[in-house]
Amino acid sequence: MLKNRRSRLTPFFDDNALDAILYTDMNNIRYLSGFTGTEAALLVARDRLWFLCDSRYTEQAREEVVDAEVVECGAARIDAIADIARVQGLVRIGFEASHLTVAVYRRMAEKLSGVEFVELGGELDGIRTAKDSAEIEQLAAVAELSSQAFLATIHLIRPGVMEVDIAMALELEMRRRGADGKAFDFIVASGERGAMPHGRASEKIIQAGEMITIDFGAAKNGYHSDETVTVACGEPGDRAREIYGIVKMAHDRAIAAVKPGISCKDLDYVARSYIGEAGYGDYFGHGLGHGVGLEIHEQPTLSPRSTALLGEGSVITIEPGIYLPGFGGVRIEDTVVVTADGCRLLTKVEKELRIL
Ligand code: ZN
Ligand code: ZN
Repeated sequence: MLKNRRSRLTPFFDDNALDAILYTDMNNIRYLSGFTGTEAALLVARDRLWFLCDSRYTEQAREEVVDAEVVECGAARIDAIADIARVQGLVRIGFEASHLTVAVYRRMAEKLSGVEFVELGGELDGIRTAKDSAEIEQLAAVAELSSQAFLATIHLIRPGVMEVDIAMALELEMRRRGADGKAFDFIVASGERGAMPHGRASEKIIQAGEMITIDFGAAKNGYHSDETVTVACGEPGDRAREIYGIVKMAHDRAIAAVKPGISCKDLDYVARSYIGEAGYGDYFGHGLGHGVGLEIHEQPTLSPRSTALLGEGSVITIEPGIYLPGFGGVRIEDTVVVTADGCRLLTKVEKELRIL
């Protein structure tokens, strides 16, 4: 499986005439090597790899990173890379320009003076876009866990409860069900606060008749889930019901349109044009969704500017919303996996309007 993942690097080696690629981003290192720790570097040549870590991780690396040469080098990592490059004759090394500091780059350029460094960008992260079956299993499991934790917490949502109490109870429920932690700081935005797409749970007290947007996700074994449910705490009124209906239809239509080969911007347009025709186009200010995997936000991006095509095995969110300043907002989000002829929902909370 890891070999299969690393075979996705072949075009980078070919197109840039590289002898090796130096990885410093821990998500990419985990993806390519199986290492689950938090500090290392990975040097990948076409048919060989070196895993560089300090003594805290040597044992773990020997267990997890089965086909690499584990090099314990502590703070002398750049010297170790220089040694390998010299012995192996590596003269063109690609690196992750978006994950390496200028300071480290300068030290590398100084210590590996005979090496030409080739800047590689976000395209390197792009090899993680199509998930393999092991990843889809992990993503499905964490999404299921997170949805079940939400359903076990929903009874707490009632007038008089603070937003932050809901967030804490939900996190606890996830941990109880085996999550390693939360995927991000949950959004719990009630009443007018719902107009803030990223309104983190506050000390605001939930009132009767308010809509509450709860955006939550768990992390487990390195993988994440992402789901948003908007509920009403008592009868929310006609306007809130209208907005909910529009967002729900935009969400349903986008999910129905997911299939391999559709461009991310066309998919975004399915939801955006529906919300626009309903008269709320100015109040849906963010992209329709994003990839989810080892990072909570990863490629592809679903937005009016994203020309990427969806492929089978991509795991993405569909999350349209309408946010009305001074009134409130509605967002509905599911995480789906793209299948041969459509998609399958990984998140499991039913999205019909719930009046609690
Ligand atoms: Zn979310
Ligand atoms: Zn999201």
